[in-house]
Amino acid sequence: MDLKTTYLAKHVKELKPSGIRKFFDATAGMKDVISLGVGEPDFVTPWHVREAAILSLEDGYTSYTANAGLPELRREIAEYMQDYFSVSYDPNHEITVTVGASEAIDISLRAILDPGDEVIVVEPCFVSYAPLVTLAGGVPVCVQALKENQFKILPAQIEEAITERTKAIMICSPNNPTGSMLNQEEMERIADVIISHDLLVLSDEIYAELVYDGNYTSFAAIRGMRERTILVSGFSKNLAMTGWRLGYVCTPAEITEGLLKIHQYAIMSAPTMAQYAGIEGLKTGREDIDEMRKSYRQRRNYIVQSLNEIGLSCHKPEGAFYTFPSIESTGLNSEQFATRLLHAEKVVVVPGNAFGKSGEGHVRCSYATSMEQLQEAMKRIRRFVETL
Ligand code: PLP
Repeated sequence: MDLKTTYLAKHVKELKPSGIRKFFDATAGMKDVISLGVGEPDFVTPWHVREAAILSLEDGYTSYTANAGLPELRREIAEYMQDYFSVSYDPNHEITVTVGASEAIDISLRAILDPGDEVIVVEPCFVSYAPLVTLAGGVPVCVQALKENQFKILPAQIEEAITERTKAIMICSPNNPTGSMLNQEEMERIADVIISHDLLVLSDEIYAELVYDGNYTSFAAIRGMRERTILVSGFSKNLAMTGWRLGYVCTPAEITEGLLKIHQYAIMSAPTMAQYAGIEGLKTGREDIDEMRKSYRQRRNYIVQSLNEIGLSCHKPEGAFYTFPSIESTGLNSEQFATRLLHAEKVVVVPGNAFGKSGEGHVRCSYATSMEQLQEAMKRIRRFVETL
């Protein structure tokens, strides 16, 4: 009996595996590989944050927490949202602590989508968005942020994709994989479309703290948008806590009530020791974040200049820790470029088409790796491009 054919649900069978994973698997057994492929900080979680988790274990805090998360952590998140993004959330009814931003996105979509509801997904984007919409019974409608617009989506493009089934739009700014960030005025124009069509925005703000140029604005802080925003964020990127699996979602009480039911049944509560670490991170992690941001900024400046010198034209991303250079001048498509670079020079980059159609012609290079590794990677990429 073929278990897959017999038992796997049709929509799961049809789901494609992540284009990023596929690429990493190809490096198995290879030595001296430099990876610009990873989407996580190269820093270890600050010691005092780790220590808070250790202390919580020593104190015996090993049981479940409240479903929505430790009250103290929710209070800290509310304070942080107010202080840094000027948005006010009630910690008792509008904040849910989740297993990473990943779970926050999943339960938010599952809470709002009826079968067949459409969600506009702005691409290039994080690989999970469209699959999670599908798994929630919705239909992802992909719109392409274009290179000629610095990978920023235009309100008219959103307007064009809206139908009577559209319920929400998913936006990530600063963006993975392009690093591009919407400014306040651009967000206001997008908000006009969202409000006039009575939609929600699922705003993935996980890179909000990793901004190098310009000021960050939260979608929830745009006039008229607080009630329409599902704000997803977490600790993975700003505090280098990917392995702790800690995130959160802030949204009006009526929507929180819905997604919390899913969280309650599916997860119960986020890992307790991670929540204690999160409290410490929010209370006293400011200097660590500032230090890491400073280091990312330096590396961004270096890699953008180097890629452009090599002839892989690259806009200067305002945030996150990715560059998205064009590889069109090489005559290769993004998969060919990434595969040949890996075999010729043992450098991992991710083909842009893994993030959506408009990512073709580009590769994602993460600069969350040491300066020495980056310098060596640039040397190898230059050598590779010269052979083409
Ligand atoms: N959203 C974006 C845009 C990401 O890039 C990532 C991770 O790469 C996530 C969400 C997932 O974050 P977490 O580790 O909090 O689940």
